Amino acid sequence: MAYDENNIFAKILRGEIPCDKVYEDDYALAFHDIAPHAPVHILVIPKGPYVSVVDFSANGSADEIEGFWRAVAKVAQDNNITEDGFRTIANTGVNGGQEVPHFHVHLLAGKKIGPMVAG
Ligand code: AMP
Repeated sequence: MAYDENNIFAKILRGEIPCDKVYEDDYALAFHDIAPHAPVHILVIPKGPYVSVVDFSANGSADEIEGFWRAVAKVAQDNNITEDGFRTIANTGVNGGQEVPHFHVHLLAGKKIGPMVAG
């Protein structure tokens, strides 16, 4: 699947639409999900144009991959969710329920998140 430069997270990265920013560095941007499913619901996205976790992990540079996952850890630590715990989710494709075709990791925290898979 080719990367869609007009997806909403690409627009956020270009500053064309706003986000409620949590963290930013050379490799990643983190912001609050607009429709939170938990008291803490943060999205972390790489700055590069990657559709999915597979695209990113297969085609990202070592620096991008390291930088992104270091940012995920920093966001979790800075938001004090590591002690009580949290869930990371990376939905992929139709069966995964991915709505935005720019790789992102959800961090869900602040309550017991419940069963791993709904239904
Ligand atoms: P996914 O289903 O894994 O692709 O998740 C996409 C997520 O992006 C959903 O949880 C949406 O609520 C969230 N989302 C969509 N648009 C925005 C936006 N403009 N700002 C923040 N979060 C958004």
